[in-house]
Order: sequence, then structure tokens, then C-alpha cells
Amino acid sequence: MARIIRLTSCVFLVCVLGMAITGIADDRLEELQCGRLVFAAAAQEKAAIAEPQYAPDREADILHITIDVTPDFKNRTIAGTTTIKFAPISKPLTEFRLNAVDLDVSSVTSSAKIEGYSVTDEAITITFEPAVPVGAETTVTVVYRAEPKKGLYFRTPEMGYREGDTHLYTQGETHEAPHWYPNYDYPNERSTSEVICRVPEEMMVISNGRLVSEQMDSNSGLKVVRWLQDKPHVNYLIALVAGNLGKIESKYRDIPIAFYTPASQIKYAENSFKDTADMLEFYEQEIGVPYPWDKYNQAACEDFGGGMENTSLTILGTGTLFTDETENIRSSQGLVAHELVHQWFGDYVTCKDWSHLWLNEGFATYYEDLYDGYKNGRDSMLAGLYGTASYLLRDRPEHKPIVYRSYKDSWEQFDYRTYGKAGWVLHMLRTELGEEMFRKCVKTYLERHALSSVVTEDFRSVIEELTGRSYDRFFDQWIYHGRHPDLTVSYNWLEKDKLAKISIEQTQEVTENVLLFNFRTKVRFIIKDELIDREIVVDGKQHDFYFRLPDEPNIVRFDPDYGLLANIKFDKPMEMLYEQLENHKDVIGQLRALEAFKEKKDKKTVEKLKDVLNNDPFYAVRRNASSALREIHTAEAFEALADSLVQDDARVRQQVVRDISGFYRSETLTLLKRTIRNEKNPAILEVAIRNLGLYQHKSTRRLLLKYLQSVSFRNELATAAIEAIRMLNEPFFIVPLQRVLDEREMDFRSWDFTRGLNALAHISRNEDDKTKVCNFLAGYVNHPKDSIQAGAIGALGTLGDPRAIPIVETFSSDEPDNNIERAAEKALKELRQHKQLVPDEIVRLRETVDEFRKETDKLKEELDDIKKRLDAKEKPVEKNGKDETSDSNKNTPPDKSEEE
Ligand SMILES: [Zn+2]
Repeated sequence: MARIIRLTSCVFLVCVLGMAITGIADDRLEELQCGRLVFAAAAQEKAAIAEPQYAPDREADILHITIDVTPDFKNRTIAGTTTIKFAPISKPLTEFRLNAVDLDVSSVTSSAKIEGYSVTDEAITITFEPAVPVGAETTVTVVYRAEPKKGLYFRTPEMGYREGDTHLYTQGETHEAPHWYPNYDYPNERSTSEVICRVPEEMMVISNGRLVSEQMDSNSGLKVVRWLQDKPHVNYLIALVAGNLGKIESKYRDIPIAFYTPASQIKYAENSFKDTADMLEFYEQEIGVPYPWDKYNQAACEDFGGGMENTSLTILGTGTLFTDETENIRSSQGLVAHELVHQWFGDYVTCKDWSHLWLNEGFATYYEDLYDGYKNGRDSMLAGLYGTASYLLRDRPEHKPIVYRSYKDSWEQFDYRTYGKAGWVLHMLRTELGEEMFRKCVKTYLERHALSSVVTEDFRSVIEELTGRSYDRFFDQWIYHGRHPDLTVSYNWLEKDKLAKISIEQTQEVTENVLLFNFRTKVRFIIKDELIDREIVVDGKQHDFYFRLPDEPNIVRFDPDYGLLANIKFDKPMEMLYEQLENHKDVIGQLRALEAFKEKKDKKTVEKLKDVLNNDPFYAVRRNASSALREIHTAEAFEALADSLVQDDARVRQQVVRDISGFYRSETLTLLKRTIRNEKNPAILEVAIRNLGLYQHKSTRRLLLKYLQSVSFRNELATAAIEAIRMLNEPFFIVPLQRVLDEREMDFRSWDFTRGLNALAHISRNEDDKTKVCNFLAGYVNHPKDSIQAGAIGALGTLGDPRAIPIVETFSSDEPDNNIERAAEKALKELRQHKQLVPDEIVRLRETVDEFRKETDKLKEELDDIKKRLDAKEKPVEKNGKDETSDSNKNTPPDKSEEE
């Protein structure tokens, strides 16, 4: 999967790199990537040690799956007929179990004789009598209706989306597909597939593979569109998008490329997708394996988080679309590249189980960097890797390895390990093997495992075979154990002997999850302009290396090729750091020097940084110089930033505004207002508007009111004003904010609207009379967008009016397992803390009663279970040994004579 954008504190999936480059603020990094962060967030919460997870047994080989689906956009339901062709693998098959969540099944028929079938809210189990022999190709057909809560998402005017932009899209990974069709839902199995969708004539339908036919059905008056994926892929990659879409087309070689968006947004498509053909060409060269599928489509859909790499049909969120006004700040390059790379890594070969997810996500992440290097130069790629490393090297409470089985929820795997860290592991491998050998290994790995499922050892064994070297240790320390090395490096010059002494210590705690690392790298000495490189091997806790040199070096660099993921503490003389900062041939050396300067407060350093901020040729160095000045935080540092607001490169300009905002002083307010007056770029304006929230001032009120009511792309400027209003926390804004939310809901992105509701609750929470706001928020608790529903429930908790308790209680559950129930649980806790109506004793009493109720429910379940078992004992057992008294609704096919 790909990336999203938004999660503030809780999540971090995805494509962190692209953002570092394009300059999106750290706090918005979280928006993400392949995947849907939202779920990752939920998964993180319950990330306790769990039982190890393994791929399930494949009892049958799934050969082909045909899904015929008719959506009802108005009612947000589907009618479906799914046919699965399979053959038992090693044993005759008596019971065939298909994953199917909440499908309303009306019939199950088969080419074999079936004795019956049972349906639960999770599966359909079909019983064959006699058993289907090994290798016998058999079909089962399931007819059903569904109102999918996951897996297939409607976006319709009834839900608050624009008229004329009606569409639906699907999302399979990790286990959502069974919500819209029955299947074997695990990536250790592959089959060909066919999707048929019946829609009104004016709608478009896209799916995997190639278009086979499109014709009107005179009976139903619907257009029937049929797509065929004739190369086997895993179940979670089956996808469908249908609706009122706009389309632009292009071509690379003989591969058709098309981009789709909801009809009204097609004018923004070109910005996001313009590099696709160039990327295809680059990746075919770099990977050495031709693009494996019939076409490449990308479809931007509403309120989709990030991107998803379905075979030949990537689905992305409309959040990736942007306008020209943001200059070079916004870009879809990282996301588009990431999803495209998945067509090889993830689709052509697919991780066999979720513990090997890095084989999908790590490659997709690293190859984003490779394209960036090709397009924008090696420095850009290195700066991207540096940004990722800064994120990876943060302290974390856990040291999980990249290949990790003890997860509860497969979404836990979509985190910093399988994306950024795995990408870095590939970068280390490529640095060590050299580009040519790395390419050869990757190409061989792909060709050998084409169209199949893979595990880590498949990749490792190819490297060993082609290099003759053992990679056990490399994989053991980086993939099967956690963390990275912490290194303290020091340098001394021994003038008498003309010796440079380099000492290296590994300081990370060695545990059963973290090894002492063993790696090869270099030390570089620069004497005047001459480079002297010395290889070193670090295989212990502490090393002293001595190097004889012609003269004392002016620069010493550890790991100058930037091929090691490690926390490096290297104290150097200031003069050496200044030289390093001015060496434009070594961008990582410059960035490392800037990092070191954050600790300094002296005027000379501030002057140097100001000079770099205004004159360095590379934008990422200029941007980091700005951040370093913010960290230094002296009056001189502020002046230096204030003098540097004029920047041609919008990414640097935005950074300077952000860093100036990090100083709380009256001059900052003046500068922010000046920026707001003069700046045309909305991405920079947003930063300035948001930071007005730190200043209680009459003029601030006026400006915020103006932007609250302003019209901008996706209402982004109004959203920034709302964030400021929340920070200001002034009841003055209650009425105007409520009015904007009420009148302009559709102009906001759902998530922004939700935050608006919460800001309204936040600034109203200390009012004596909260009735109006409470009623207003209560009006959204049944909103058809569940994100807004959950947001409104959460806002009621923030508002703290205990009269909302009965409303919120109707959404609560003893075991919350979706966003709405979780929001209700949290809101209830907040609401019950409000003492004026609910004294502590009553809160406790209520909790005790709740506990009793849960206890009683549990006892009742146990009692039911005992009863059933007793009943079962009294009944004769079926000849196949199956228990008759299963509480699923067991059915018999309607007409047995048609089964054969
Ligand atoms: Zn991905």
C-alpha cells in the first residue's frame, strides 16, 4: 500500500521520504502511504505480544475467480455472483471454506455434488459429498447481497460528496476483500480473475488486467463491463473502481496508461501523474524486468488514505491532487513512484505472509528514492535517505525486527520497519554489492519467483548464489533482529607520527532482540582537496584505528558514501565542521554539520548558517540551515531567519516561515502578517495562518475571520484558520465557526471537517450554555460518512456537556472494534468526568454496573454454550463427524438436481 496524509500523533506508516523532500511539515508526514494509516493506528494501540502468525494451509489451488457485481449507489449496497474455480491439492476435499464477511447469501451451487453449506458472519463453508478428488477442477457459485462496511466504499451525494462525482472503489489489503465477495483471502495463493460490473450507461468501470467487453444489457438497462486479469495474482490485489469519472490517457511503449479522478477533479490529474511514463521507462531499466501487466491505470478516489497497488490499477486518494499555485511544495512523485514499483514488488512477486511484508514495502520505498536520484540528482536522493534516517533513528520503546511474526493484527506490520528501515536495508545492500551486482540479484530474484509468493530467504539465497558470499549475518542483524547501531566516533591527530586515530564504539544495548553489529564502511580524510579513503570493518564493541597520512586532514568523514543506517555521534573541531558545511560535493557532510550546529549558540555559527540559508546551491541544505537556526534559538538566530524570508525556492520559503513561527515574539506576529499580505503560495500561507493561533490580538481575530470565510482549493486556508482558532481558544469564534461548518461542509475534506467540529467543541467547552453547540454536533452523529460520525461523537466528548451521554451511549459497545465505537468509548469517559451532573460516586457505580453487565453477558454465553454441548451429546452424530448443532444457518441448496 501506499500513503495517506494526516494522522497527527498516532500513526506513522508510510512514505515518509517523499515528504521530507517536498517539504511537507513533520507533523503532516503522517499522512501516509501504501496502506491505510487509519488502521495502522488502531493496530498500534493493541500491539501487545501476541501468538506468532503463519500463513494458513492451502487445501485447494484456486484457479480462477469471477466476480459479477451490480452496485446500488443510492442505497450503497451490492448484488453479487461470485464463481470460484479450484482443485484440491493433496487430499480429497470435503469442506471448502471461503472468507465472506457479512454477506447475505441466497444460494451456493457447485459443479460437484454438495451436501450443504453454512454461512456465518465470517465465512461460507461448503460440504461436498462425496469429497472432491485431488486435482479435480471444480466450481462453486455464490449468489449474495451485501452492504459492505469495508472492502468496497461508496462515495455518493447522499453521503455529502459532490453531485456528478459519484463513485465506488475497493480495497483488498490486508483482509477487506471478503466484505464484497467470497474468496480465499491470504497471499500464499494466486489465481487469475475476472470482474464484471453493471452500472448506468454514463459511468466508467475499471479493474485489473484488460478490458474484454463493454455492452448494454437491454433487460436491465445497465452497461456491463468485463475486465480480465489473465496472470495469477493474490486475492487482496483484486480491485474495482466505478462511477462518474474523468479520464486522461497516455502511453509508454505499447502499454496504455490512464488516470482517473472523480469527474469534477480531472483538471488536477496532470500535475500528479505527469511523470508516470518516465517512471515506467526508468523502472524497466533499473529493475531489468519488463512491466508485467497489460496496462497501468491510476484512479484517485475520495477519502482514500494513501495508495494501493492493485495489479495494473493503482487506487490513490484525491488528497494527492494539487494545484499549480503551490509551486514545487506539493508533489505526487513519491506516491506515484511507490505504487508503480509495487507492480513488480508486491504484485509480480508478493510476500507469502505478512511477516515478510518488507519484500513489498521496503522495495517500493527504496525505489522511490532511486527514481528521485535519477530525476533530481543523487543529492536529492541522499537528502531523502537522510530525512528517512532521522525518522528511523529516533528512540523507540520496542526493537521489533523487520520480519516479525508475533503481531495481533496484520496492520501492525505496516510501520517504520517494513517501509523506511527495509528501504534503508536495501540501500545498504546496494552500497555494499555495487549497483551492477545489486541489479543482477534483484532481476534474478524477480525472474525466478515471477508470479509467485515469496519469503525473505528467496531473496537472500539469490544474493548468496550470485556473489558467492554468505549473507546470513547481514540478514540476521538487519532483518531478523531489531534496531540499528549507535556509534560514538572520535578523531585525534598525532602530529609526531603523522597518524590519524579513529575510535569507534557501539553503544546500543545488546539484547536478545538487538545484536552487536558487524559492518564494513570507510573513513575519508580530505587534505586540501585530496581525498584519502580507508576501508574499515567494525565487528566488535570498541575499535581504535590508526592511519598514516601525509598531513593533518582538514575534513574527516565517517561513512562518506552514506551506506550505513546508524546513529553517529562524532564530535569534531568547529573549524572542521565549517569546512564540511562548505563542501558542496558532500551533501551528507553538510547536513551532518548542520545537525551538529544546532547545539551551538555562538554568533559566528549563526552567521555561517545565515550564509548557507541564502546561498547554498542545494535547497535541502538551505532548508536544514533554517531549521538549525530555529534550534539555536538566540536573538541573532531569529534575526538571521527574519532577514531570509525572500527565497526563490518555495520549499525553503515555507521552511523559513515555519522556523520563524518557532520563536514566540511580537516581531514574529508582524512577519506572519507580512507573509499573509504578500505571499501567493497557499501552502506557505497555510503555515502563516495556522501560527497566528499563538497570538491573542485584535488584528489576529480579523485575519482569522477573513480566512475562515475564504474560498480556496479544498478549503485549505479555512482549515488552517480553524487550527489557529482552536489554539486561540476564544469563544468569540463560536458563532462564525459553527456557521462556516454548517454552510460549507462539502467544501472541506472529511477529515478537515471533523477537526472543525472538534475545534468548535474545544472553544465552547467552558461556556455556561452549551446547548446550541451540543445540538449542532449531535446533528452529525448519524452522518453517512463514518469519519464525520466518529468525529462528531468525539467532539461531544470534547464539549463535555453531560446531557450528551445518552446520545453517545447509543454508539458504545462493550468491545469497541471500529472508529465509531472507539470514539464513543473515549467520549463517554470524558463526559462522565464532568462532576456537576455526575458525581464521582455515580461514575464509579456506573462502572461497577457495567462490569457486572459484562460479567453477566459472559456467563450467559458460557451457559448457552454448555446447553448446546449437552443438546449435541443427546443427538446422533453425522457420519462425517460434523456437529449438527453449529449455530450458523445451515442451508441446503434450493435445487439439488442442478448441482451436478
Ligand atoms: Zn506500499
